[in-house]
Amino acid sequence: MQTKLLINGVLVAGEGESLAVYNPSLGSVLVQTAEASRSQVHASVQSASAAYEAWSQTPPKDRAALLLKLADRIDAQAQVFARLEADNCGKPFTAVLQDELPAVSDVFRFFAGAVRCLQGSAAGEYLPGHTSMIRRDPVGVVASIAPWNYPLLMAAWKLGPALAAGNTVVLKPSEHTPMTTLKLGELLADIFPAGVVNIVHGRGASVGEPLTNHPQVRMVSLTGSVRTGSRIIEGTADSVKRMHMELGGKAPVLIFDDADIDAAVEGISAFGFYNAGQDCTAACRIYVQKAVYAQFVRKLGEAVSSIKCGLQDDPATQMGPLITQEHFERVEGFVQRAKALPHIEVVTGGKPVAGPGFFFEPTVLAGAKQEDEVVCREIFGPVVTVSEFEDEAQALAWANDSDYGLASSVWTCDAGRAHRLAARLQYGCTWVNTHFMLVSEMPHGGVKLSGYGKDLSMYGLEDYTVVRHVMFKH
Ligand code: NAD
Repeated sequence: MQTKLLINGVLVAGEGESLAVYNPSLGSVLVQTAEASRSQVHASVQSASAAYEAWSQTPPKDRAALLLKLADRIDAQAQVFARLEADNCGKPFTAVLQDELPAVSDVFRFFAGAVRCLQGSAAGEYLPGHTSMIRRDPVGVVASIAPWNYPLLMAAWKLGPALAAGNTVVLKPSEHTPMTTLKLGELLADIFPAGVVNIVHGRGASVGEPLTNHPQVRMVSLTGSVRTGSRIIEGTADSVKRMHMELGGKAPVLIFDDADIDAAVEGISAFGFYNAGQDCTAACRIYVQKAVYAQFVRKLGEAVSSIKCGLQDDPATQMGPLITQEHFERVEGFVQRAKALPHIEVVTGGKPVAGPGFFFEPTVLAGAKQEDEVVCREIFGPVVTVSEFEDEAQALAWANDSDYGLASSVWTCDAGRAHRLAARLQYGCTWVNTHFMLVSEMPHGGVKLSGYGKDLSMYGLEDYTVVRHVMFKH
């Protein structure tokens, strides 16, 4: 397995502390790695800084050509990447291969095209005798910090727009799931000029902090928890770096009595439990109108109890384990405390799966109240809550009563209601009669504590550029 870092175009062994990387399906060590030392973090930023001048001046079509080449090479090795991702995350192999890998190469292809189509105000004489024009230039060295839930996809979301726009990057995958990103390092070393992309592996405190605090880093792009986001913003305040923050979520799902209940049940049992619910947009906070509440809870319980947990190579497996023992204990703690509440009904699940690995049963908790911890806080596991509402106003108020603001969905056959709610839900995305669907052309990102900045789309590309004004006196 490839465990080396990528610094200045060369794959090098980490010189920092030894770190075990686990297979969460078995709870056993997958491979022993070494994180980057402080001097390696420094060297990676210096190499990105040295590469910046030439890369930022490389014409968009030539940068695009390298991104397209990368996409082709990823497609050619999709099985290899899917194998590593499945073993390192416990995800069902087929799901990684069919769902995640095509999305990874598509992101690089999208940004390869997008950077050739950047737009801005027309050049013109806005002051007589002077011509003004707008430029969109890269920001500089970007420190990109990725989470563990979709390691390679998140690496693509970070690298695609940053590199396309002409920035150079130092990318740190999560210490729990570095394997596909380290493997990607082999391709990056082959395709890109030395220093344009660097990969350092390690924990937040030992590698993430020296990286994000580095004075030559001009922008930090994080996908992670709110706590990590605040910590980075606080730690880098003196150097006023540009920030791009994709943080947590607690998606409300509003199901009205005129909705297609079977479609909603099918949707929630898929989108609440995909990736074992370890998804910032997971359909986890469900509000159902009174007239259909009992029917919905019964049908959802039946559907969710049939989700099959298992090992990544079993073709019948629909859901894998949680990522670490620590996270497993966190999820279990939420469910234990909820079960102790008299009004909570465990419709299905509610306990660990017997056997090795960090598996927790797909769980539906009904009768949840707005103030319950399981309704307010991000669990990031295979646990959904269901609460009953009376009318549209109550559903909207409860949905917006959250510090998070990433994703939401409305299930109804009334188009007017869907538009009315989509306009008032305080979330970066509102889906109608579906949930969870992302496309490279459309932005993904939050409001409130879910952060700011967009991934994917032209908006994502623009986030990795600075707008500049150039004025000529005639
Ligand atoms: P995390 O915040 O623990 O870690 C994320 C990354 O930050 C890791 O690479 C970690 O090593 C690094 N890190 C931790 N402390 C750091 C520090 N002080 N300085 C620099 N880097 C540091 O999050 P996680 O547990 O890996 O991921 C789960 C979280 O990510 C959830 O809250 C989830 O909602 C969020 N998430 C959000 C999105 C989104 O698009 N909004 C997508 C996926 C995950």
